[in-house]
Amino acid sequence: FQVPVAINEPVKSYASGSPERASVLEQYKAFYNSTVEIPMYIGAEEIKTGNTANITPPHDHQHVVGLYHLAEKSHIEKAIATSLEAKTKWAAMPWEQRAAIFLKAAELISGPYRDKMNAATMIAQSKNIYQAEIDSACEIIDFLRFNVEYMSEIYEDQPASDKGIWNRVEHRPLEGFVYAVTPFNFTAIAGNLPASAAMMGNVVVWKPSDSQVYSAKVIVDVFKEAGVPDGVINVVYGDPAMITDTVLASPDFAGIHFTGSTNVFKNIWSKIGANIHNYRTYPRIVGETGGKDFIIAHPSSIEKQVATAISRGAFEFQGQKCSAASRVYLPKSKAETILNYVKEDVASFKIGSPEDMSNFITAVIHEGSFDKLAKYIDQAKADADAEIIAGGNYDKSKGYFIEPTVILTTNPKYTTMETELFGPVVTIYVYEDEKWADTLKLVDETSEYALTGAVFSQDRYALTEATQVLENAAGNFYLNDKPTGAVVGQQPFGGARASGTNDKAGSAINLLRWVSPRLIKETF
Ligand code: GLU
Repeated sequence: FQVPVAINEPVKSYASGSPERASVLEQYKAFYNSTVEIPMYIGAEEIKTGNTANITPPHDHQHVVGLYHLAEKSHIEKAIATSLEAKTKWAAMPWEQRAAIFLKAAELISGPYRDKMNAATMIAQSKNIYQAEIDSACEIIDFLRFNVEYMSEIYEDQPASDKGIWNRVEHRPLEGFVYAVTPFNFTAIAGNLPASAAMMGNVVVWKPSDSQVYSAKVIVDVFKEAGVPDGVINVVYGDPAMITDTVLASPDFAGIHFTGSTNVFKNIWSKIGANIHNYRTYPRIVGETGGKDFIIAHPSSIEKQVATAISRGAFEFQGQKCSAASRVYLPKSKAETILNYVKEDVASFKIGSPEDMSNFITAVIHEGSFDKLAKYIDQAKADADAEIIAGGNYDKSKGYFIEPTVILTTNPKYTTMETELFGPVVTIYVYEDEKWADTLKLVDETSEYALTGAVFSQDRYALTEATQVLENAAGNFYLNDKPTGAVVGQQPFGGARASGTNDKAGSAINLLRWVSPRLIKETF
């Protein structure tokens, strides 16, 4: 089969006065002024346990826009059993029929569900419309379309056969079910993790982040309308430890597709290790976790280019991207000019609710995140080896608002040069120009994580040296570009070290983790 050639979904501009802006705002208001009740989805059943949690916008935390029902252990067991019942028929479905379902899902998001996806993401995850559009519209569509292309490559790839022999490979799904644990920060990732395993014929128990339940519900609506059969993707919410422990206790647990924090992932990995004798098959463990992503400017870099990369890389979506620039190394000869540009940018960023589309910065995801960020900001105000040169204020009276904040430190190992904060705070260290080579070594040595990094230079020797010295320090390495904003089909995404298993999201590498091939040799 020749599947449709995947193309990246064009990004809509939502210009002032445009019909698309009016349309998404209408949907935003409709969602904002109602209260949605979100059940768990197990097989054909919508389960309401009566034990609920509220959904409140991070930028208006007293306002309830929805509630969702929390699982007990028995619901997780039921979700597992239901997924396994759905397995036989789903796995036996020809792959092109499965592909068609996910292509239809992409078209539904591109058309009738676009505003709903964006509005839910704007409200419950506090994304501005531009960040919502590239995530909950374009990126999820791209994942679906490109993964269909990759799946066709996988299924069509067959071994050679000598005369009188026919070798063939069946790319079978894993034996058991897959557990998808997804984050709040990208609606696209939340949809992609269960979908990519399901595409390859697997059945899934999906636990979205508590902070992403609203847009997860819209994804479920899309998948249902696209024709994902009942029981193939089962959705549960609730106590993460209880859910994970119940899932991992099942002998049919066949793999986890995870995006979230390093600590949680390591903890899950050791629990899988502790249970290893109980499983029918070695589980696949695929995770994208934390980051402490860098920007390094060489003395030959272009000041304005570096400054824009810092402002956008550090502060888009309030810095809540695993890829966000959070530590920066500037050469002394250029630091002042670059920092002046950054300060200008930061001063121009408007802060407030995503409903006002001129706001670039909205709220951080929840109180826990707000309190943690405020603590590090206060610490920087007090520490002798750090100073705040932009931002530094915060206010949680209505929403969890933190000003985009720039910390300047004289200590390359200052806490916020090493600790992942996951918020709109970037720390800058200025090095002596002649210490370029030492700085590269320092960055590598202090890279506990290895997700993204960016180097700016007009000198090809410097770019070459950085690429070589930092070969293990970033799975996505950018030359003269910001370290965020990987586009599906162009920059497969993922990192190693404490950042994950580097099974690049948006690639055949990732999809191959969800198959257990059988080679059949037949002799004539
Ligand atoms: N793929 C996103 C980017 O390139 C980041 C994903 C994440 O935050 O997990 O910015």
